[in-house]
Amino acid sequence: MPGNRILVVEDEAKIASFVQKGLSEEGYSVEIASDGALGLRRALESPFDLIVLDLMLPEMDGLEVCKALRQKGLSIPILMLTARDGVDDKVRGLDLGADDYITKPFVYEEFLARVRSNLRKARDRGDPYMRVADLVFDTRLRRVERAGRLIELSSKEMALFQFLLEHRGEVVSRKEISERVWDIHFDTTTNVIDVHINRLRKKIDYGYTPQLIHTVRGSGYTLNDEFLP
Ligand code: CA
Repeated sequence: MPGNRILVVEDEAKIASFVQKGLSEEGYSVEIASDGALGLRRALESPFDLIVLDLMLPEMDGLEVCKALRQKGLSIPILMLTARDGVDDKVRGLDLGADDYITKPFVYEEFLARVRSNLRKARDRGDPYMRVADLVFDTRLRRVERAGRLIELSSKEMALFQFLLEHRGEVVSRKEISERVWDIHFDTTTNVIDVHINRLRKKIDYGYTPQLIHTVRGSGYTLNDEFLP
């Protein structure tokens, strides 16, 4: 859709300017990043609607960029630019969370069709905001607001919050939290999870109603605005 913002991460100046010119003529707003590290930084700083990601890049290759973006929870569609013989790269890229790829050298019309279809698919996935009561989470910027006030979370608090939010209305156990948020099995005597839940509560619930994070005795935790103990 014209007006959509597209980040093109490509170190070959000729391809980058050709793509930028073409997309601009279609009405897209285009920004070029000439290496992987810069591309990753710009994608995290600013809300884009699509990333065109070359795989062979200086500083940080496209696969690493893709992996880092998905690990940080960004769901922006990623269209990879791959070499003709890079079958492993395509498979790895898709495994790491890329949405689509196009092989270089490509026909411009086909590239444009891929851009449109990936933007459309993303739009069909719905709006980027998740809401519970007066709490709003922007999944693209990973920003949390409650009653219109920005809430700053540490990266662990954010991971915990996102896990609870994705399972809102369900009870999640300490075991599930430790496996999904910490990626390890805690022994059951540790209170790391409780400590983080308490920190998250202080930021998200203290001073607001309704309470959103609830302890379900003997089972775990739930994030819910209609909790009946
Ligand atoms: Ca390249």
